[in-house]
Amino acid sequence: APVLLLSGVERRYRQGEATLNILSGADIALAAGETVALVAPSGAGKSTLLHIAGLLEHADGGEIDIGGRPTSRLSDSERTMLRRTRIGFVYQFHHLLPEFSAIENVMLPQMVLGLSKAEARRRAAELLSYLGLEKRLTHRPAELSGGEQQRVAIARAVANAPRLLLADEPTGNLDPRTADHVFNALLQLVRASGLAALIATHNLDLAARMDRQVTLRDGRIEPLG
Ligand code: ADP
Ligand code: ADP
Repeated sequence: APVLLLSGVERRYRQGEATLNILSGADIALAAGETVALVAPSGAGKSTLLHIAGLLEHADGGEIDIGGRPTSRLSDSERTMLRRTRIGFVYQFHHLLPEFSAIENVMLPQMVLGLSKAEARRRAAELLSYLGLEKRLTHRPAELSGGEQQRVAIARAVANAPRLLLADEPTGNLDPRTADHVFNALLQLVRASGLAALIATHNLDLAARMDRQVTLRDGRIEPLG
């Protein structure tokens, strides 16, 4: 089964008297290990699509399957558990907890799932070292560069070994050179872990490094170009 399958996904927002059809039959399937870039103009619905795929927001129609499992009839707590165990998120802004160190930020999601502190620490140190942050483990977010903050956010997103990574402009807040490095580190980790990834980006150069590029047109997903 695909890691992520969206079939006929619909989402509309009311705006006064009008209805905005943001998604109107969006379809996509991501196989294990497949990396897909989502490239579309601002307002096209990229964030909405990622939130729905990540079970953070409900669709108005269609079906979202995660690892072959339909999600529409799941309870909120079942959705939350599926999200915590199967899906990792990276946002444009790191959203790290400012009072906690880099390693603690990566330990926390694991401890929420019941791992021991020692196990969580081992995994967090391994991930942060893989991302080149072995000398930054005890730094707080404010003591890290923008690129380093995003690397910590990436480590946190994959800390619980999800099968799917969703990212919304993960390097959109970084200067071009740093964006390039961080994006490469992200892709290397995704590929080494066999993760499927759906990544929204405005950067065509970065998008070209992924297996496939899609766009959103009139609420549907189409091949880019
Ligand atoms: P993108 O990520 O491609 O910029 P979004 O998914 O953020 O697009 O937004 C798509 C459209 O939906 C935009 O026009 C936005 O204003 C609208 N929108 C997003 N969220 C809401 C909401 N909660 N209520 C009303 N309109 C929304
Ligand atoms: P990137 O985020 O892609 O690593 P940066 O330009 O942010 O690119 O940093 C380049 C390298 O310089 C980083 O990998 C980091 O190890 C080091 N570095 C960044 N900021 C600092 C800092 N404030 N003090 C010491 N070293 C730093």
